[in-house]
This record gives sequence, structure tokens and C-alpha cells, in this order.
Amino acid sequence: MGIALNRADGRSLTYIVRTPNLFAMIDTPFQRRQATRGLEQLSALVRAQSWRQDGTPSLPPTQAAVLRMLQGVQDGLRARQIAERLGVSAASLSDSLKALEGKQWIRRTPDPDDARAARVRLTSSGSRMATQLQRPDQGMGSLVESLGEADLGALLRVTQLLINEAQEQGLATGLRTCLGCTFFRPFASGQRDAPHVCAFLDKAFGDAELRVDCAEQQPDDESRQERVLRFRQPTPP
Ligand code: SF4
Repeated sequence: MGIALNRADGRSLTYIVRTPNLFAMIDTPFQRRQATRGLEQLSALVRAQSWRQDGTPSLPPTQAAVLRMLQGVQDGLRARQIAERLGVSAASLSDSLKALEGKQWIRRTPDPDDARAARVRLTSSGSRMATQLQRPDQGMGSLVESLGEADLGALLRVTQLLINEAQEQGLATGLRTCLGCTFFRPFASGQRDAPHVCAFLDKAFGDAELRVDCAEQQPDDESRQERVLRFRQPTPP
């Protein structure tokens, strides 16, 4: 772009004016730091705020996650299964289970399949507390509530990738995501609005229906890398 100025001698000069380059804002390391900071701030905010509503008592995140996980699981879960799904050590989970037992929200009963193991179940007061914790206006739910389907789909897609990364780095195991599931076929349906396929349900679905905790999930490490590569393609096949 140029600006022409007339000089006193009648000649004209043209100055080149550079349009500010909007794309100069794209600096990947900077953006990664911004995303990281945003996630960390949200996480700290939710930890600090979420349990103050409606008289719900303040609960450490692991205890709250155990209550949510056990809700609706009739046969209960072994402590090892809970620790795996939460990505916490057995010792750290043991402290949380003791605290929950002290509040009479869980109980341990002998495992009918293994005499040396126990199953952890919710008591009726634990079940009431778990229901309270599942309310959409609790914790992160109060923020996610405002998202429309497209944004929810984008969030679920990124969440799948972040959980996969956490698993790759050994930070978490046992999380039952679509991306880690043998039945997941990313971009296999050929349908624009529902590009993925769940071979278990024989159903095409979109990003907004991706599961982070699916009871039918079958973990599959062998073809995980191939599946992740396909899922990550910026331009779907
Ligand atoms: S079984 Fe569950 S986790 Fe697996 S692809 Fe289907 S919906 Fe996803």
C-alpha cells in the first residue's frame, strides 16, 4: 500500500506503508503457553470455587471423583480399578477411601470373585452426595454448561487428545475414552456431521458425542497410534 505526497517542486513521492501483519500474532510456543495458563487457571479456579455452592461440603478432587465413579455401579469396583481410572497411586487412593469410609459414604465388601480382594460401593448417603456432585452447575460443569454443540465438540475432541497424551506420558491409565478404544473408527463413516464410527454400537457420531468415560470401552494399545494419527488429521479424509 502506498501514500503519494506532492513536493513543492511538483514531483511526488510515494511512501510505502506496511499494513500490520495480523498473522504475526501466530506464535506457536506463545499460544501453547497461553493455552496451558488458561487450563491451569481454570482448574485452580474450579478447585477453589466449586464446592462452595449449595452447602455441598468441600471435598478434595480425588474423593469427589471416586463418588462420581461409583455412582450407578451396582457391583462396586476394586480399589485397583478405581486407582487406574483416576490415574492415582494405590497409596494416594487408599487415603481417599479411608476418608470416604470415615464419612460413611462408601463401604467395602468382600469380592465374590476373589477372596483376597474387596469391592468398594456407595452407601445411600454416599449415593446422595454423588448425585449432588453430578449436578451440571457443580465444578467445571457450571462453565461447560454454556457451550453450544460445536464448542462442546471441539472441547471433547481436545480432551480426547490431552487424555491420550497423559496416557502416553504415563500420567494416567484406565481412562475409558473413545480414542483409546478398540471400537473407535475415526473418520470412517464418510458423513460430514457424524464422521466417526463406534463399532460396538454400530453407529456414526460426531465430536460432540465423543465419550471420556464409556462403560463399553475396550482398551486397545496395539492400534492406538494409527487411530490417533487418523483422528488428528487437520483435514479429514
Ligand atoms: S464403545 Fe464407547 S468408548 Fe468405544 S468407541 Fe464406542 S462409544 Fe467410544
